[in-house]
Amino acid sequence: MSIVKVALDLPLPRLFDYLIDTGSATESSLVGRLVLVPFGKGEKTGLVLAVTQTSDQPTEKLKPVSNILDNIPALPGDWLVLCEFCSRYYQHPLGEVIHFALPPLLRRGKLPRPVKNKMRPEAAAVAKPQLLPEQQAAVDAVLAASGFETFLLHGITGSGKTEVYLQAIEALLRTGRQTLMLVPEIALTPQLEERVRSRFPDAHVVSAHSGVADASRTRAFLDAMTGRADIVLGTRLAVFMPMPRLGMIVVDEEHDSSFKQQEGLRYSARDMAIFRAKQLNVPILLGSATPSLETYHHARTNRYQLLELSRRAVAESLPTVRTVDTRREKLQDGMSQALLDALQLRMERKEQSLIFLNRRGYAPVLACPSCGWISHCRRCAANLVLHLADQRLRCHHCGLEAAIPRACPDCGNLDIHPFGRGTQRLEQSLVERFPDARILRVDRDSADSPKKWRALLDSIHAGEVDMLVGTQMLAKGHDFPKLTLVGVVGADAALFASDFRAPERLFSQLMQVGGRSGRASLPGEVLIQTEYPDHPLYRALADHDYARFAAAQLNEREQAGFPPFAHQAMLRADASDMAQSLSFLAQINHLAGESAGITIYDPVPMRLSRLANRERAQLLVESTNRPALQIFLAALSDKIYSLKTPRELRWHIDVDPLEF
Ligand code: ADP
Ligand code: ZN
Ligand code: ZN
Repeated sequence: MSIVKVALDLPLPRLFDYLIDTGSATESSLVGRLVLVPFGKGEKTGLVLAVTQTSDQPTEKLKPVSNILDNIPALPGDWLVLCEFCSRYYQHPLGEVIHFALPPLLRRGKLPRPVKNKMRPEAAAVAKPQLLPEQQAAVDAVLAASGFETFLLHGITGSGKTEVYLQAIEALLRTGRQTLMLVPEIALTPQLEERVRSRFPDAHVVSAHSGVADASRTRAFLDAMTGRADIVLGTRLAVFMPMPRLGMIVVDEEHDSSFKQQEGLRYSARDMAIFRAKQLNVPILLGSATPSLETYHHARTNRYQLLELSRRAVAESLPTVRTVDTRREKLQDGMSQALLDALQLRMERKEQSLIFLNRRGYAPVLACPSCGWISHCRRCAANLVLHLADQRLRCHHCGLEAAIPRACPDCGNLDIHPFGRGTQRLEQSLVERFPDARILRVDRDSADSPKKWRALLDSIHAGEVDMLVGTQMLAKGHDFPKLTLVGVVGADAALFASDFRAPERLFSQLMQVGGRSGRASLPGEVLIQTEYPDHPLYRALADHDYARFAAAQLNEREQAGFPPFAHQAMLRADASDMAQSLSFLAQINHLAGESAGITIYDPVPMRLSRLANRERAQLLVESTNRPALQIFLAALSDKIYSLKTPRELRWHIDVDPLEF
């Protein structure tokens, strides 16, 4: 009899001991195995992390493992190390990390049914273009890496970054190595998958993202783990795919915030990917037109090797970016004369236009001008957004829905108005002003499933659309060859947002959305409506000068002591009343005490202080020394776990938080 230490999917930072009859199995062959163990009144699936002879608990109290699931291959050691790192770095219980990292069927100790090998159609590989000198230099640099090295491939949309990835992957395939390619949530479009598959018809490409059904995701995981898959293409969760022949990692659009999970296990897939590349001693290629300032800072200080693509691969010119000063003009349905004229011109030329407004719904709020009532969510510190398309008021934070009242609920006034403008309202104004135009709205409401999203993309490509109205969903990763005008409305708010990352996000969004225009032979134009036409952010955009924008931002961050010049972690708590959340954090603050090199701020209510009836507060911990912060957080989380916290209070630690 031996004792196994088993990770279970429980919110506790510990492993669980069980007895096991090792029988003929060697002890080391048990590590990484899934097992079925008794727990409470039922059974749970767990993963064996170690085999020992001792336990902190009296042996007679230990229960035996019910079953070793040895039809499922053992998870490899480097995968366990990856999960352990993730657990340690993000202060999250290992059992939960492992549960999260496993594909859906394995979590339940099941295997997917095997599928018959589909006869692959005889496809000839799509011809590849001759690389431009900068592209070639980038491919050469990555392939010349003798082991772990982080590369930043910086190039505007259309500069041929994807082509660099593809040709590097091709070289890896020839040497029999696997590639992991991570893409943001929304950009994992059929387009990219198609491009990869058609370039490498003989390679085994598997995808992993939340849109893939449980069984195929599990199959993809097993194919990656057994080395059958050559290329794994996926969103953030794909960073946990075990890959024994891994030779390179690509993270496309590395700045994208969807790489950071915002609930549960709050990990950054980009940062985990870098850890993994280091662990397996392989190169990692981060690509972006607007790198995150953290990444760019590393490139400027030579921790990462910077590879620049300075011009577009196909279109000759960059779009012309102009600001439209809206201070002295009466806007018509939120649009300036310059924008309306530009739209009209595109109609006459039979070209496509896109209007970017990062706010979905009809109007952000419904208001009563006579008593000041506004539609607010009763569960959140937020307004209910008016959705006229389906006649509802809807909270974009908690999902609460309500009917549109006929009269003001407070004073009975019949004349209540939508206030402000969202994509639906803009769409409606355009329909009225351009009755002949075929107008399509693209946002999370109109594209709420991958299938609908695909249909929308198809009709855009088929040239069935004259004007697109949409949110950032439209900004990413698509070629719209007939698109020559991008209008930007309502962007100013982000210039003065209290979140220090707001300008970075705005710059990146506008750069991306602007990059949609003029991608083929037609020159593109970007019009930004603003009350701050001389703002440095817009000036840098007009000059297509990311480096200048980034340098200015990094300078400000350094002055203010913000990341990347400091490392942060956020301890958050929520309860049914704010006093409880705040006093819990105050108690932690007291418990933590003074620690050299660590700054702990006072607990404060979160900006969205109430979400779904939970009152939320947070406490910021900061240090210029990452290892010191890590040690501090580990000790802090131990203390919190050993505390008796009120039942209804919830807390979590968010390391390297993106949202404040
Ligand atoms: P990015 O990923 O930077 O947006 P892509 O790799 O998608 O850029 O390239 C943009 C377009 O230019 C694509 O249609 C691609 O096929 C084409 N392209 C890229 N590199 C070359 C090249 N060296 N020669 C010709 N066409 C190229
Ligand atoms: Zn009223
Ligand atoms: Zn709400």
